Amino acid sequence: MTDPVALTLNAGSSSLKFGLYAMTDEPEEIAVGQVERIGGAARLRAEIGAEEIARDVTAPDHAGALDTALDLLRARFPRAKAAAVGHRVVHGGPGFTGPARITPEVMEELRRLSPFAPIHQPHNIKGIEAATAAFPDALQVACFDTAFHRTHPKVNDMFALPREYYDKGVRRYGFHGLSYDYISGELARIAPLLHAGRVIVAHLGSGASMCGMIGGRSIASTMGFTALDGLPMGTRTGQIDPGVTFYLVQQEGLSIDEVRELFYTRSGLLGISGLSNDMRVLEASGTPEANEAIDYFVFRIRREVGGLAAALGGLDALVFTGGIGENSRLIRERVCEGMDWIGIELDRARNAANATVISTDLSRARVMVVPTDEERMIARAAKALLDAEGTP
Ligand code: ADP
Repeated sequence: MTDPVALTLNAGSSSLKFGLYAMTDEPEEIAVGQVERIGGAARLRAEIGAEEIARDVTAPDHAGALDTALDLLRARFPRAKAAAVGHRVVHGGPGFTGPARITPEVMEELRRLSPFAPIHQPHNIKGIEAATAAFPDALQVACFDTAFHRTHPKVNDMFALPREYYDKGVRRYGFHGLSYDYISGELARIAPLLHAGRVIVAHLGSGASMCGMIGGRSIASTMGFTALDGLPMGTRTGQIDPGVTFYLVQQEGLSIDEVRELFYTRSGLLGISGLSNDMRVLEASGTPEANEAIDYFVFRIRREVGGLAAALGGLDALVFTGGIGENSRLIRERVCEGMDWIGIELDRARNAANATVISTDLSRARVMVVPTDEERMIARAAKALLDAEGTP
């Protein structure tokens, strides 16, 4: 006897997140975890029910990290058989508007899109290759961070460049789509009237972005061609004048690779604070530089609330999610301060209690905290495609 399960994989540059889900109508989480610091002092962390596991492991590459995760899962769930493996894939280009079964043709397309996301896509591809070797009989499914935004109007899809670049794929793709899709589904479930209206979702984690939706569909988002645009993040700049790049290269003598490394890994909260990319550390530290990093983060979020509300023609709800959005009372309070002009009135006690609704009963726009679950979206997609198409 075997129990069919879905495995979810989210391969980052030095980490591999995994989840194991029972193939019930609504996939049920059995285990989640991650292998961190692949290629270095690797560590496995996992949660199986109430049990928490953390130990040093050997994981020289992504295939090794997958082996480590599978050793744990196989030892704990010997009857489980992976019928489907769902992968988070950062870039689906203009073509992928939803999850896709991975075929040799799809793999070719993912490789072709790699230059659009050189920091992330190659790792996603490695994760798929490792999982295909480990589970040759399972359905492999790609779930794209860009897919949710494919509904946005063309003005939000283009840059003011000569037309040929649009045709070559230089477009505003938007990311964090699995998270926004999940939040959209949660709103439809718990607040259907708001879901039908004008909603801004602030996904504030190590990576951070915001999305304006109408009727649960993406209209505009803060990330663009890459996941570098928009809000400042743990280590990424967010929006920056492209002229800074010319200056750094021509006057400071940096190579393009050095500029890329600066923008992706040494900027954002870490760059301004000179201390940490971790919001908890910044909130606790209280140094002037840490406070400035928080000020800048909050300022940019508030600007985007105004900009996205203009794109939506008003605001019915603001939803916070991601590690910072779900946990930081301070950031939520500071974002909502003095926002009555747009109909936001925060209830401090509700905010301090991390309640689901943190606006007052009289607030014209509702402010909510909704935990996101990207892994669950991958598991749902894997199950749905398996139900529709069967195993390969
Ligand atoms: P990732 O994008 O890597 O999935 P998360 O969504 O887990 O990241 O968010 C990580 C961020 O959330 C970090 O900056 C962390 O400091 C922040 N965070 C988590 N818990 C809290 C908290 N209680 N207060 C403030 N920030 C928090």
